[in-house]
Amino acid sequence: MIFETISVFPGVFDAYLSASIMGRAERAGIAEFAHHDLRDWTHDRHRTVDDAPFGGGQGMLMKPAPIYEAVRAVKAARPERAHVVFFSPVGEPYTQRCAERLADEERLVFVCGRYEGMDERCYELADDVFSLGDYVLTGGELPAMVVIDSVVRLLPGALGDQMSAVDESFSASGLLEYAQYTRPASFEGMDVPEVLLSGDHAKVDAWRRKNAVERTARRRPDLLATADLTDEERGLAREAAREGGNPE
Ligand code: SAM
Repeated sequence: MIFETISVFPGVFDAYLSASIMGRAERAGIAEFAHHDLRDWTHDRHRTVDDAPFGGGQGMLMKPAPIYEAVRAVKAARPERAHVVFFSPVGEPYTQRCAERLADEERLVFVCGRYEGMDERCYELADDVFSLGDYVLTGGELPAMVVIDSVVRLLPGALGDQMSAVDESFSASGLLEYAQYTRPASFEGMDVPEVLLSGDHAKVDAWRRKNAVERTARRRPDLLATADLTDEERGLAREAAREGGNPE
């Protein structure tokens, strides 16, 4: 799958995307990354990409012309259909469902904002506009890397063990992941739940499911509305939500 960025800081992506699972995915031919400098589509001596907002106000906005030129040129440079993603705090909240949807595309082009944002007409080029959360970052480069990371790890072969993408928070169950522990069984007075040491896989599975239901009810009750729960689990969730606190 091809991932391309258009940004005024094309140099910021390499360190992250060449390391660990992202780097391995590229070397294995699962992902291909390319980073374009938005200033390559300016035509003045200063390679200007921003201008003052009409109506006044603080800061500068990204001008539409370089962004339109860049997106059209980048799209036309390869035969694969490009799905174009913009970022903005006023966009659609980005979730695991969005990552799953993007993982079905063959090519993603991310347009990274800077300054006080973009001329509103730029968003006409977008197939998706995502918000990464209710906070304001200085640019769209980190959002692009977050989205790339979340999509690459869904691509077949990107993670060593495919199960690890199936069993996690926000996966098909719609619940947060259960609590996990490794050695030692007792650490600074904190003991791993007995059942996890029992070797009884059915009991371990039942404990994990119950723990996932309880902590979703306590920490993210908003997720329960769409989670796939039995009547018994709905009762458990109601009880956990009433009690509050941590299930572990
Ligand atoms: N003036 C804008 C506002 O108040 O909505 C914020 C612009 S922000 C300083 C500059 C760029 O960073 C945005 O164009 C976008 O690309 C990116 N950005 C900042 N916060 C973001 C967020 N929470 N989600 C997605 N992108 C964000």
